[in-house]
Amino acid sequence: MDFLPTAQPVARLIEELHKLPGIGPKSAQRLAYFLLRTPEEEARALAEAILAVKEKIIFCSQCQNITETDPCPICQDKERDHTKICVVEEPLDILALERTRGYNGLYHVLHGVLSPMEGVGPEELRIKELLDRLQGGSTQEIVLATNPNLEGEATAMYLHRLIAPLGIKVTRLARGLPFGSDLEYADEVTLTRALEGRQEV
Ligand SMILES: [Zn+2]
Repeated sequence: MDFLPTAQPVARLIEELHKLPGIGPKSAQRLAYFLLRTPEEEARALAEAILAVKEKIIFCSQCQNITETDPCPICQDKERDHTKICVVEEPLDILALERTRGYNGLYHVLHGVLSPMEGVGPEELRIKELLDRLQGGSTQEIVLATNPNLEGEATAMYLHRLIAPLGIKVTRLARGLPFGSDLEYADEVTLTRALEGRQEV
């Protein structure tokens, strides 16, 4: 991309911001010049917040959720049903499902969905980690809770093809969720119904 002629540190900041998802060259420039005008303490707070997530937040080696301890509190919880794994796209989906209080199993975070358009293939997702977990033989049900949109459905179908031959029951959230919607924003009643009405794929 072409940058406007500018001081090298600013060009570097623009380049870094441009790497963020959804930030095009114009937005990167706007953000960079905004930060340039920001008081030093605010800029420092932002930089420190970014470093803190990198230093303190890790991925749970089992479910791949973000956590401060490994395994995460959910994976460590002996009260939960360790025979069920609910597969979600993002950590925020876990919060949505936990709010329903209708699910007591474990989770697995893919950190995305298959998207040929955006160059996201199976290797970019935490699918291998999921298959590794299933090797233990204690899993009896996989609940596919990817979002009810084209990419979420395609990802669910892909996982079903991989998991079904292992002899594990694979279910999908019921159709109550509006197509094209995002799990993260679903209301609790709808999400609870979708969970309760989940059907074998
Ligand atoms: Zn975990």
